[in-house]
Amino acid sequence: LNIEPQAHGYRIFLRSNLQKTICGMKTLHWVFVGIFTCPVLTQSAMCQKKPDLSHLTPLQRAVTQEAATEPPFNNAYWNKHDDGTYRCVICGAVLFKSDRKYDSGCGWPSFTKPEEEAAVKYRVDTSHGMVREEVLCAKCGAHLGHRFPDGPAPLGQRYCINSASLKFSPKEGKK
Ligand code: FE
Repeated sequence: LNIEPQAHGYRIFLRSNLQKTICGMKTLHWVFVGIFTCPVLTQSAMCQKKPDLSHLTPLQRAVTQEAATEPPFNNAYWNKHDDGTYRCVICGAVLFKSDRKYDSGCGWPSFTKPEEEAAVKYRVDTSHGMVREEVLCAKCGAHLGHRFPDGPAPLGQRYCINSASLKFSPKEGKK
């Protein structure tokens, strides 16, 4: 209990040890909240870090980020038959290999399956008045193309992929 002399009497107020302790605990509480949330927030911000798009051409950006479609029969890999690996143009993840590429006649690079099933992910795409299965890079989320159930036996699948989403690396020792 504190008593302070005032002009017309005394001002009496309570400042107990308990009150001091509570105030101290509140301060400590916020210090601890800060210590524990800062790393969590920092890590979450790092996880959500956007991939580097600075090296992309306008077409590559439109296809991978806005799900645009490049023109058929007028793209880098639709008619490519070299041995090698097709990686994601953004994150470099291995997506397809040339031994699963085939001539579908559609004008885009076509594959019967990805190199690893976990390399891609799928999403229902209802744009343009159609229901299609969109194929995306599992690692960075880039739009790659679509999967259609009209591929060759035995798998029966056609991965119709934009060249603009891919970067081809020739097999070692080949051009
Ligand atoms: Fe990627």
